[in-house]
Amino acid sequence: MLILMEPSATPDQLREVLALLEAAGIRSQVNESPESLSIVAPHASQALKPDRIEPMAGVRRVVPITSPYKLASADAATGRTVVDVRGVRIGGPDLVLVAGPCGVESREQLFTVARYVAEAGVKLLRAGAFKPRTSPYAFQGLGLEGLRLLEEARAEFGLGIVTEATEVETFDDVERSADMIQIGARNMQNFALLRRAGRAGKPVLLKRGPSATLDEWLYAAEYVLGEGNRDLVLCERGIRTWSDHARNTLDVSVVPAAKALTHLPVMVDPSHAVGRRDLVIPCALAGVAAGADGLLVETHCQPEKALSDGPQALLPSDFIRLVEQAHGIHRVLQLPTATGLWM
Ligand code: PEP
Ligand code: MN
Repeated sequence: MLILMEPSATPDQLREVLALLEAAGIRSQVNESPESLSIVAPHASQALKPDRIEPMAGVRRVVPITSPYKLASADAATGRTVVDVRGVRIGGPDLVLVAGPCGVESREQLFTVARYVAEAGVKLLRAGAFKPRTSPYAFQGLGLEGLRLLEEARAEFGLGIVTEATEVETFDDVERSADMIQIGARNMQNFALLRRAGRAGKPVLLKRGPSATLDEWLYAAEYVLGEGNRDLVLCERGIRTWSDHARNTLDVSVVPAAKALTHLPVMVDPSHAVGRRDLVIPCALAGVAAGADGLLVETHCQPEKALSDGPQALLPSDFIRLVEQAHGIHRVLQLPTATGLWM
């Protein structure tokens, strides 16, 4: 259930409700924002009836959470979640771009890309230090050295760092260096890693598995949220279908579908969805038009020399064009519907 507190509820009144839940053995989370105060207690209805809580001082209303995704469900929050990554707010009114090369390859490569990414007005740099590769013989990332270079890039360009954690064993290192931790598509159902991400003190970007349904993706989100980390962003990155003209198929319709079911921000990664540079921009723009809160895009200063995912990396000039066009489409979506443009 979701327990909505009165805006005027005192700390003592909040404590009383929490004490009642605790005495009944119910786990709960307090959500506090400038506009609202609420408690999410995913399985409370089994042990406590709403009419036991509703009359308590400071309680405005008790709303049952009927969705199976107790914490990710739109019912479990009073509004949409906005995730703050080093001052960049994902899920708010602004479209957020996250960009960089697939992997950190060298200081020169990372800094060259970081420079034009920052000059394009993008505030979050993404590159993998630990790379999950299909082949064990492919470039696996620079590991700790890659994290160190990302920290240097943050200091040099003032960019927030998004990078992937691939294993529980190296999670602490990634958590120390990153401003946001990516859980990759292949790890979407690595439950130990999801739980560890749920205990992280940093926001998490959860990619959709290549064959995961929306249902499975949202249950994966529950693993993270269930450990107490509320700063979670979903990212659609293409799924495996019969189409063989592209690496995967961008599931554009999952963006509004996920946003209807959850309070979490949803981003789109067109790069891994298509795997081909020529298809990245149109699919990125389709993601924005479908209501994505942000884009995650791979770009490289010399794609032909990239150690991973070169064929899908946007050239610097194309990347700059994408940034302008994506913001252009997003601005159109913000126009009031009263203009009659869309309705
Ligand atoms: C990546 O982001 O570089 C990556 C490997 O993505 P995914 O997990 O979506 O395949
Ligand atoms: Mn990649």
